[in-house]
Amino acid sequence: MDESILVVNCGSSSLKLALFDKHLQKKASALAEKLGKQDASARISGDQQPVQLPADANYKQALQALIEAFRNRDLLSGEPMAVGHRVVHGGETFREAALISPATISAIRGCADLAPLHNPVNLAGIEAMRALFPTTPQVAVFDTAYHQTLPQRAYRYALPEHCYKDWGIRRYGFHGTSHYFMAQEAARLLNKTPATTSIISAHLGNGCSITAIKDGLSVDTSMGLTPLEGLVMGTRSGDVDPGLFDYLASRGVSADQAHHMLNNDSGLLGLSGQTNDMRSLCELADHGHEPSSLAIDVFCFRLARYLGAMTASLTHLDAVVFTGGIGENSARIRAETIRHMRLMGLELDPELNRHNGKLSDGRINSPDSRFPVLVIPTNEELVIAREAGRMAAI
Ligand code: ADP
Repeated sequence: MDESILVVNCGSSSLKLALFDKHLQKKASALAEKLGKQDASARISGDQQPVQLPADANYKQALQALIEAFRNRDLLSGEPMAVGHRVVHGGETFREAALISPATISAIRGCADLAPLHNPVNLAGIEAMRALFPTTPQVAVFDTAYHQTLPQRAYRYALPEHCYKDWGIRRYGFHGTSHYFMAQEAARLLNKTPATTSIISAHLGNGCSITAIKDGLSVDTSMGLTPLEGLVMGTRSGDVDPGLFDYLASRGVSADQAHHMLNNDSGLLGLSGQTNDMRSLCELADHGHEPSSLAIDVFCFRLARYLGAMTASLTHLDAVVFTGGIGENSARIRAETIRHMRLMGLELDPELNRHNGKLSDGRINSPDSRFPVLVIPTNEELVIAREAGRMAAI
């Protein structure tokens, strides 16, 4: 047996693979894209040469090719010590990571109605790795699990009770692995224990969500039944009036078209009419492109509104934390958001903010700020590797 831990993250047409050693140091990572298509491709990070895949390669073929490539580069020998899988939806069944067994697989399948684009491909990754490494312990780590501590007042929609009881319609929340990591890292940076640390964690990537964390536990979050609710995102609208669906139907827009519009054509892309990429949007706005400036303005204002809303769940606040591609790298977005928060007493130090917190252990607030503001790079793969190693050792 090799003492490595593999982390598998299967998306709707791509997969990411990361390889950790037993000390949880990352040894390698790899990406396969356009799976199921003629031009499916794969490569190991840092390598010029692509890894050869058959045409129309599926998840199993891509994983097989990448693992073979790890072996050829002496990064892996034999079977790994554990495999950790990112699984998007664990419903109310999974409050923490779970060792994969036939029962776990059927429970994950049972949650597939709630995440039809994600859970089936997560399962494809699990099945493929079980076939490749039949004796290696495999562990599922769920995006939703960390939010299972939400109180009812935060997770129930004001709908007839049978919607919840019969159909499981409630707020689940996502990005749980990242928010959990923020809770741990913020506590470390603040010299506190996670169990006494309360933060508001904003994960801003292509998908965006914000979570109130009280004494280490998630108590409110912006994503809901699906990852569409809440903040403005790259291509997702976030909150809209539910009356919109009727109105769109009256205009001849079908449910499928409405779903596609809200998930794929909205958010930063919809508002700007140009791109879902925040870096490009900032450049466009700097060149006077008004719709891009508006997209940034709506993004920051919605985020600030939610920052305020999250305080309703907390009795004290140790820090506001930014993470994800935008949260970690965009001084402008952080500054434009915090500018709306004067009443809450938040203030940034422009120089510390410009350096993304790298000069000051993550801190970007000014000394006058009522609460610390931190930038913390997220590391969901590390959390998954840690959980997989821990559960495999039990
Ligand atoms: P994903 O959710 O797909 O993992 P990321 O967390 O990598 O996405 O975030 C991607 C977003 O981060 C993109 O909108 C990208 O433009 C943005 N981003 C990355 N670097 C910067 C930067 N320096 N300034 C502004 N936005 C940035």
